[in-house]
Amino acid sequence: MKILVLNCGSSSIKYQFIDSAKKIVEAKGLVERIGMGSAVLTHAPNGKDKIRIVGEILDHTIAIEYVLAVLLSPNHGVIKDKSEIDAVGHRVVHGGETFSGSVLITDQVMQALKDNIELAPLHNPPNIKGIEACKAHLPNTPQCGVFDTSFHTSMPDYAYLYGLPMELYKRYKIRRYGFHGTSHRFVSKRCAEILDRPYEELKIVTAHLGNGASMAAVKEGKSIDTTMGFTPLEGLLMGTRCGDIDPSLITYIMGQEGLNMAEINTLLNKHSGLLGLSGVSSDMREIEEGVITGDQKSTTAFNVFAYKIKKYVGAYAAAMGGIDALVFTGGIGENSDLVREWVCKEMEYLGINLDAEKNKNPEGDCILTTEDSGTKVMRIRTDEELVIALDTEEIVNNNDN
Ligand code: ADP
Repeated sequence: MKILVLNCGSSSIKYQFIDSAKKIVEAKGLVERIGMGSAVLTHAPNGKDKIRIVGEILDHTIAIEYVLAVLLSPNHGVIKDKSEIDAVGHRVVHGGETFSGSVLITDQVMQALKDNIELAPLHNPPNIKGIEACKAHLPNTPQCGVFDTSFHTSMPDYAYLYGLPMELYKRYKIRRYGFHGTSHRFVSKRCAEILDRPYEELKIVTAHLGNGASMAAVKEGKSIDTTMGFTPLEGLLMGTRCGDIDPSLITYIMGQEGLNMAEINTLLNKHSGLLGLSGVSSDMREIEEGVITGDQKSTTAFNVFAYKIKKYVGAYAAAMGGIDALVFTGGIGENSDLVREWVCKEMEYLGINLDAEKNKNPEGDCILTTEDSGTKVMRIRTDEELVIALDTEEIVNNNDN
């Protein structure tokens, strides 16, 4: 099946055109600056030259029109007719408590997505716009929604409830939801495959470390806890997000600095994390350069980042009653041997013995611990678009039968 996978943000659309049977990306690209002066579309067809188009793209409907035009282009395209797109799979950020798995998008689903806007006011509206734009251009093509939150709907109430008055949960659905679920699901399943053991028997800690970062405790194939909460701000230190802090700090900082709600939100989401602590960058590569050259603030930021991950490994081992594997993924998890080394040092008590050489030079998806290490540490490349394509294929096939 040929599937167009879309990740629609407020001013950008990332896309991949995937042959799900062959697991091949035939083309991928990005539309940026939608609704701004000069929008840019970058399109990379497999095996052909990459192209860049600059133009005025007022909204998501026009952006999708551009994407379809390049996919159909005689020189840079990969299809001859729109009908070759068998289905569209959308990444949807927030499924609330409504969606515990991926779904075919129907009018009812659209309504539920709209009902969840309050939970993700920045993310769900562009996701909805993307779906509506596809409906306009591809009215007969099935569309599916794959949610960042759905893998975590298996969390027990004692993991997802905050210690707040219960009325707030009932009234506003204030609880922990967790995100990056598509990635945690993919890499934990892949971990079981590599270990050649039943997924349903394993206790796996997954660490998705990119600009946004979260960890999950995956017990017997189900997420039982995760570090992100009501929003993606909770949990680990991230590129520009603060992660866990004392909630009293919010009113304290607002008072001390004279900030309003929007400003404190920006401070916690955009000016904190690696960037805020280091004053150098939100990018781990630059932080690592600082560590290597002895920059004190970069070293501190790096240590805070790695320490929080280490702390959650222990917490999740306790939550699951043990740990069979610790999986690193995302731009940092896949590429930073320094982070993996820091997290895994002095973890012999958990059965973790990192192999220094394997950790420095990992090849593909692999195990990074010594043969006798009871708990395996692994590096697995995440592929959220492929998961969206495979879920979409399964849903469309089931719906046809
Ligand atoms: P996003 O969350 O935006 O998808 P990615 O998963 O691409 O982000 O991760 C981006 C992060 O990965 C950045 O902090 C970047 O510095 C880091 N990264 C990428 N390559 C390396 C590397 N070789 N070593 C250390 N960090 C890296």
